[in-house]
Amino acid sequence: MHTASYYAASSVPQPDYLRLDGEQRCDVCVVGGGYSGLNTAIELAERGFSVILLEARKIGWGASGRNGGQLIRGVGHGLEQFEPVIGADGVKQMKLMGLEAVEIVRQRIERHGIACDLTWGYCDLANKPREFDGFAEEAEALRALGYRHELRLVPPERMHDVIGSDRYAGGLIDMGSGHLHPLNLALGEAAVASALGVQVFEQSPVTRIDYGPEVKVHTAQGSVRAATLVLCCNAYLNDLNPVLGGKVLPAGSYIIATEPLDEDLARQLLPQNMAVCDQQVTVDYFRLSADRRLLFGGACHYSGRDPQDIGAYMRPKMLKVFPQLADVRIDFQWGGMIGIGANRLPQIGRLREQPNVYYAQAYAGHGLNATHLAGRLLGEAISGRESGRFDLFAQVPHITFPGGKHLRSPLLALGMLWHRLKALV
Ligand SMILES: Cc1cc2nc3c(=O)[nH]c(=O)nc-3n(C[C@H](O)[C@H](O)[C@H](O)COP(=O)(O)OP(=O)(O)OC[C@H]3O[C@@H](n4cnc5c(N)ncnc54)[C@H](O)[C@@H]3O)c2cc1C
Repeated sequence: MHTASYYAASSVPQPDYLRLDGEQRCDVCVVGGGYSGLNTAIELAERGFSVILLEARKIGWGASGRNGGQLIRGVGHGLEQFEPVIGADGVKQMKLMGLEAVEIVRQRIERHGIACDLTWGYCDLANKPREFDGFAEEAEALRALGYRHELRLVPPERMHDVIGSDRYAGGLIDMGSGHLHPLNLALGEAAVASALGVQVFEQSPVTRIDYGPEVKVHTAQGSVRAATLVLCCNAYLNDLNPVLGGKVLPAGSYIIATEPLDEDLARQLLPQNMAVCDQQVTVDYFRLSADRRLLFGGACHYSGRDPQDIGAYMRPKMLKVFPQLADVRIDFQWGGMIGIGANRLPQIGRLREQPNVYYAQAYAGHGLNATHLAGRLLGEAISGRESGRFDLFAQVPHITFPGGKHLRSPLLALGMLWHRLKALV
């Protein structure tokens, strides 16, 4: 069962893939049926590998089937910090890969005709004038990088062209980013993988891994032997691999979906039907669905505990932006786990002690595109056809959060509080 989200209620019919039963063998076993796992499986199957994908619950059950659906350029944050490790050229290559990541999603959808309401147009919203100044620099930097899509600055006095709210100090429109129905994308990708010969299994949580030159992956009723293993469980990894688990902190993010809005109201809120994100530390992100609901997302909870009533918690945030929605009904409310790494760069690599075990995780709230890039890089590296791009990511060290499984989240929450208090004084 999926979480009771708007996406689950509006998804294309979802096939039930079999549960793993008995012993299987393949070239590559992929664990996790979100975008990371699905795209890794697709990339490998396209390169001629036999692949088995194991998902603990349903395809798209994790963040991939629950997210804001905002498809936004770029990977990581502040990539210059990695220059001492990967050099200036490495930083540039990563930036280019951040642009390529969206193109991979675009091509996947177009090539396979995946019905997921893909809509182009995205706007960064400035909360403060100095953030708007930063947008001009960002646009310049993107153009210098060769970004081929239209970028347009929106001055404060023209913000109502983009959003029916008085809250923002300017915007940056990017016509190369956009939004889509995330669960339908995952389901479409599972169908693509399956058609390419990937054996997809659902309701098959991996309980144990025997590492070695050949890995053996165990589920309750079966096992898979494979030359190579790829772990794509992100924030839902739990104890499956403690080394990777220690580097990614699960944090809850939450979304509400209004009732369908009438055309005039929807057009007043987001006249150009763009996805938008603001610049707060904990961003507000929102957009319209294909049936004109406002999907309003935000918050970032490190406690591991969801708010008791997500609707009651999120609604005031939405009304701060759009007071005109005071009488509008909330039809759906849900949350999901994002995986956060300390330096905010997606963690794409292989285990030092087990070189035939690869992984991709820790995209924070910006994984829709980056997961697709991860799948491509893993496909390139595992097939041995091109490992330079993969190595750029794999070279960057990622610290293990202190505090062990139980203290990691409270310690980080304390750290965040400290930074917020410092910002106030
Ligand atoms: C509420 C929310 C909003 C977001 N909004 C956006 C957005 O608008 N734009 C954006 O770019 N990003 C967004 N993100 C982030 C994005 O959704 C994720 O980065 C991305 O989906 C991660 O994909 P994934 O495949 O790595 O992980 P997931 O989709 O979480 O998949 C991991 C899968 O692994 C499975 N699994 C775990 N353990 C096992 C096991 N032992 N055996 C078998 N399977 C296992 C899980 O069941 C799960 O299905 C959001 C995330 C959330 C939660």
